[in-house]
Amino acid sequence: MGNIQLKGIEKSFGTKKVLENINLDVKNGEMLALLGPSGCGKTTLLKVIAGLLKPDKGDIVFDCKSVVDIPTGAREVVMVFQDYVLFPHLNVAENIGFGLRMAGIPKKERSKKVSQLLELVQMKGFENRYPRQLSGGQKQRVAFARALAVEPKVLLLDEPFSNLDYRLREEMREFTCHLQRKMGVTTILVTHDREEAMMTADRIALMLDGQIKQCDTPVNLYFKPNSPEVASFFGEANYIQGRVIEGIFQCSLGRFQAPLGLEGKVSAMIRPEQIEISDNGEWPIKGRIIERRFAGEKRYYRVKVGDYILKVTSPSWKTLKHDSVGVVIDFNEISYFKDVKGGS
Ligand code: ATP
Repeated sequence: MGNIQLKGIEKSFGTKKVLENINLDVKNGEMLALLGPSGCGKTTLLKVIAGLLKPDKGDIVFDCKSVVDIPTGAREVVMVFQDYVLFPHLNVAENIGFGLRMAGIPKKERSKKVSQLLELVQMKGFENRYPRQLSGGQKQRVAFARALAVEPKVLLLDEPFSNLDYRLREEMREFTCHLQRKMGVTTILVTHDREEAMMTADRIALMLDGQIKQCDTPVNLYFKPNSPEVASFFGEANYIQGRVIEGIFQCSLGRFQAPLGLEGKVSAMIRPEQIEISDNGEWPIKGRIIERRFAGEKRYYRVKVGDYILKVTSPSWKTLKHDSVGVVIDFNEISYFKDVKGGS
């Protein structure tokens, strides 16, 4: 089991409040990404979970048991830091077996486990090398193996890919996801990279200024954010102001079917790829392209529609010959915010 509940966690350094009323449930076996910009408090929260820092307020519950007063060593939690911190004077096998030796596991059993872990992280044949003789990716694999050796209930990864180059980062992301699913260990991955969070995690907790603003699946955070602040963290968005009356969204572009249960003054939030444009045929909303950019896999447009300038993206293989276009937006499928003023 490796169920984590954080209840009302608060932490300040001097007068600076770094964590504010953090409430979070992480399910057994889940991969949760803690995402947020630099300085928002991610590492501090990870340290609080690991027991390296004590919260000023709140409770941490592992599998129905409060661990807030239990020291790090007894929490069955392992934290892997950004810089891997392998012991330089120990070889790969000794690094991986370190925790087992500390726990008094006999040599024979230890060697068997180390050998299994070397295989798991695809590092067989490297057991006698020292950290200085390894690449960044290899060091990271050893750090994972060392962390997993003690069979933790919870694995905490602090920006584990940030020291790797682009290609290796992709490879290690995939490897980590695969390993995490195989081992089924509850994992919290700290990152400031939204794409990394979306591609690796089952759920993402978005943290801004010491608060968790929304915790949900990557798809929901992107398409169903609970505020414009969350929406803008995950990418570009268009906002159209209007009013829903008896299930119909009325705005300066026309009258459209709205989702059930919505009434009153709202802002419709539309991602650029949720807008379709075509210069071929009669579509109900008329627009004019005022800017085009080609970016390889996508084309970026700015389209003037009524009083709005909409950001639109389309697959790059689609070409538009004319600037006069028809526009389609499925107002039934997009998100709405109540009574807020959005961007352009
Ligand atoms: P990054 O992605 O840059 O590592 P982060 O989101 O992990 O950032 P934290 O390291 O948790 O952020 O830091 C949050 C805030 O708390 C920062 O303003 C930081 O300067 C401050 N801080 C962190 N540790 C301490 C400390 N021991 N004493 C005082 N202030 C601290």
